[in-house]
Amino acid sequence: MIVDLPDLAAMEWFGAKIAAQLRAGDVVALTGTLGAGKTTLARAILRGCGHTGEVPSPTFTIIEAYDPPATRLPIVHADFYRLETAQEAEELGLDDYRHGAALLAEWPEMAGGFAQEAACLSIRLEIADDGRRAIADGGDAWQRRMP
Ligand code: ADP
Ligand code: MG
Repeated sequence: MIVDLPDLAAMEWFGAKIAAQLRAGDVVALTGTLGAGKTTLARAILRGCGHTGEVPSPTFTIIEAYDPPATRLPIVHADFYRLETAQEAEELGLDDYRHGAALLAEWPEMAGGFAQEAACLSIRLEIADDGRRAIADGGDAWQRRMP
């Protein structure tokens, strides 16, 4: 699925659409260059799940966790850009955070990619002439949820 995202309002709309389908155990793998809009889309998904406060970029903390009642399900927002080895990903205790949560992952390729997981929605963000473009692939699981 290719989605044109000309402005921030479109990011908000797309994030809300994903949020409506998001379940515990899902991974939303956000790829694209620096500035492509990964954090912007993660914020929109969090807001679509009910979060109303700030969403700091997890560039330095790597992991930020959001929990009910602020969000309708536990959500982990991670940015793996600063990880240097897959070993470091394990040391973060990501599996503990992820228990019962949905994961929004920036730079997933730095942490193994997650693509092997059945409920992984991969979204590649590209800078377009007019804003951004998303190339989304969620396999069968997401195809049924977001046709
Ligand atoms: P990333 O996390 O991929 O590095 P960010 O989400 O921080 O990128 O976004 C970088 C900049 O791009 C921000 O200033 C943001 O407002 C802007 N931006 C995001 N999405 C869009 C869009 N669809 N159209 C125009 N600007 C956008
Ligand atoms: Mg970012």
